[in-house]
Amino acid sequence: MSKVTIPKFQLNNGLEIPALGYGTWLGLNEKGEFIVEDAPKLVDALSHAIDVGYRHIDTAHLYRVEPEVGNIVKQKIQEGVVKREDLFITTKVWNSDHRPEDVEKSVKASLKRMGLDYLDLVLMHWPISVSVEGVDEKIDYVDTWRGFESVLKQGLVKAIGVSNFNLEQLTRLLANSQVVPAVNQVEINLNLGQNQLVEYCQKNKILVVAYTPFGRMVPSRLDTTCPAVRHDDPTMLNMAKKYGKTVQQVALRYLYQRGICSIPKTLTKTRVVENASIFDFEIDAADVATLQKFDNNYRTVRPVFWQNFTNYPFDKVDVDVTEIPISLRKWKNGANLDID
Ligand code: NDP
Repeated sequence: MSKVTIPKFQLNNGLEIPALGYGTWLGLNEKGEFIVEDAPKLVDALSHAIDVGYRHIDTAHLYRVEPEVGNIVKQKIQEGVVKREDLFITTKVWNSDHRPEDVEKSVKASLKRMGLDYLDLVLMHWPISVSVEGVDEKIDYVDTWRGFESVLKQGLVKAIGVSNFNLEQLTRLLANSQVVPAVNQVEINLNLGQNQLVEYCQKNKILVVAYTPFGRMVPSRLDTTCPAVRHDDPTMLNMAKKYGKTVQQVALRYLYQRGICSIPKTLTKTRVVENASIFDFEIDAADVATLQKFDNNYRTVRPVFWQNFTNYPFDKVDVDVTEIPISLRKWKNGANLDID
């Protein structure tokens, strides 16, 4: 079995986090329903990921797979593959749990679903607050952060952070908090470099974690109607050939060289190894300059159904605003697992 060795970054509280983790979001289908039927494949792929050397897992209450993740962790500990302290496990608090007291409930429920007694990192999934009925609750994320500081103090989690915070929101949070977030998890890929945000985070010792690290540069996400770099782009193919790697490996390596952690998701075992085999080559300065030119501020993840909500973090676009998919509001919606 091919194995991978993944280096670590240090968080601002001294803890270490593997520079690449395994993402567990299975996504929604065209009807906005959660793709629950892929959960068994995720179990297999995650089990393989731990066997080959992944030690960082990214999940969320929203993803409905915390029980599966917890079971695999338990199994791998029982098999002697890892100890709990070898793993770095992240989960996230959803938008309907933004009251400070609900943060604690949410974290305790995640721990129960995963069968764990602590989490390594818990993130505020979005700066917006939305009730399960889809109502804008207008809760200030600074108040929500008090709940995060409390779960940290109680020892339920080893580090706390945020996700999808823009520069202004992060600046305001830092000015009003005791604890600086350890992480800001945001979309970053070749098309969305987020240079200013990354610079601010790095200056303030907040680790940037890149979600959707491939953007649209994988065949499954190809969209010929947008300005995103394609997986068959000749520049990318030539560069990949030069380093003896795939275009996806070049994309992940570039993030690492920027000091950014990434959490690619794959259900394909060969890609589990491929995505983590990026620590044995270096993209040279000329190629880095070429890669920088793909940055065109194109977002793959753009939840426009929230764009009129308080604290929506992205620029608004001129489209018909659709309803929030029910699976992003209600857990027991007929298309999920046995999750509260
Ligand atoms: P990714 O950029 O990781 O892309 C996933 C897609 O790429 C899948 O279709 C996968 O296919 C395919 N793929 C993976 N590796 C390769 C490869 N080497 N070659 C070709 N295709 C490949 O997108 P995600 O949106 O899933 O983001 C990753 C993770 O980030 C999520 O799983 C989640 O944990 C987190 N996330 C967090 C968000 C937040 O708001 N905080 C938002 C979105 C994601 P296949 O599975 O078939 O192999």
